[in-house]
Amino acid sequence: MSETTAEVVIVGAGVIGAAIAFHLTRRGIRPLLVEKEDPAAGSSGACDGLVFLQSKKPGLHLELALESRRRFDELREILGPGIEFRATGGLCLIENDSELEVLRRWLAEQRAGGLSVELIDGTDLRGLEPLLSQRVIAASFSPLDAQVNPYALTFALIAAARAAGARLLAGEPVTGIEIASGRVQAVRTLRRRIATPLVVNAAGAHAPEIGRLAGITVPIRPRRGQLLVTAARPPMLRHGIISARYIAAKFNPELAVGGEMGFSLEQAESGNLLIGSTREFAGFDRRTTLAGIRSVARRILPVVPALAAVPVIRTFAGLRPYTPDGLPILGPVSGLEGFLMAAGHEGDGIALSAVTGELLAAHIAGERPAFPLDPFRLERFSQEAA
Ligand SMILES: Cc1cc2nc3c(=O)[nH]c(=O)nc-3n(C[C@H](O)[C@H](O)[C@H](O)COP(=O)(O)OP(=O)(O)OC[C@H]3O[C@@H](n4cnc5c(N)ncnc54)[C@H](O)[C@@H]3O)c2cc1C
Repeated sequence: MSETTAEVVIVGAGVIGAAIAFHLTRRGIRPLLVEKEDPAAGSSGACDGLVFLQSKKPGLHLELALESRRRFDELREILGPGIEFRATGGLCLIENDSELEVLRRWLAEQRAGGLSVELIDGTDLRGLEPLLSQRVIAASFSPLDAQVNPYALTFALIAAARAAGARLLAGEPVTGIEIASGRVQAVRTLRRRIATPLVVNAAGAHAPEIGRLAGITVPIRPRRGQLLVTAARPPMLRHGIISARYIAAKFNPELAVGGEMGFSLEQAESGNLLIGSTREFAGFDRRTTLAGIRSVARRILPVVPALAAVPVIRTFAGLRPYTPDGLPILGPVSGLEGFLMAAGHEGDGIALSAVTGELLAAHIAGERPAFPLDPFRLERFSQEAA
């Protein structure tokens, strides 16, 4: 067993760990990223790339997303076109009057929260997206909604962090965290002991395992999403697209079971279309199922009939790190000096990566973060229980 030291150890090289590493190096702090497989091996490499604002709950969630979105413009400048960030604008499709009613209220709250978003009728909508069927009666349009390649983003953040002095250990699961007198002392893998005063738990859906190593309970559950990928086609869609039902299912798990499910649809820069996705609690099973894939395909075809002529080339599933209140768990943990949480972003980790990286890095550097971390701390769950 070898010995090494690090100013900060980040567990998990998904988009969240990568963003924190990147933002730390911009402050002259050189972290060690420890990843059990490869970068983006978790949900950051098995997801869509929607950087959406209109899907965020008005209030804290939306404020966090707005702050993150602002930072993506700068990230594109620094990381370059390879991350395929495009401010395409986003549509949320409405298919019946009851959805319209709910969306009207949702949009009023979002506008009050500072988001520019408007309701457009079916005719105007088909002017923007001619392939949408008559089934869609209206949509909300958010011009700031954007798209990015999540895989490329994660790798670009890690490459930039490494160029600035961060280190990466891939293929090395964290197996232990040493604590003495309520303070983190070291992180262990099977091959080495890494002495460090600070460890960041950015293990996504596996964050509870890392929590257990430090003696804390982290209420994150894996929520599977199954996706279809089509062959590349010339541009068919101009916007990132979700359905109103998708928002409902995201915040109300019972709505994701039975009945009409939500969907998301985007065309990547490569021309491939990503069609998603289920929302299921299926443990850590990352396999796709015939029923799941069928349900996604059956849901999208009446909305975009032209997709019937586009071959599906593969399917995959990822595990969203779900928290009971839909917000990520960020920041220090009471009674455990040197242990920081940065996990639980559910279906929003790509969109929220920029602000998460910035907030955690600012906290570690001893700066006042641009956004208070208190509402996101782990303790909110124990307070709720009490
Ligand atoms: C189908 C689907 C669609 C989605 N669409 C979107 C979208 O459009 N927009 C959006 O913003 N978000 C989307 N998401 C959510 C997004 O993918 C996640 O929120 C985000 O990827 C979480 O990133 P993370 O870094 O926290 O977790 P991960 O990417 O899972 O990274 C955690 C890393 O920790 C590593 N790890 C685990 N245990 C250990 C250990 N013991 N030691 C070392 N390393 C360990 C894992 O291998 C993994 O690489 C989607 C998710 C899914 C599944």
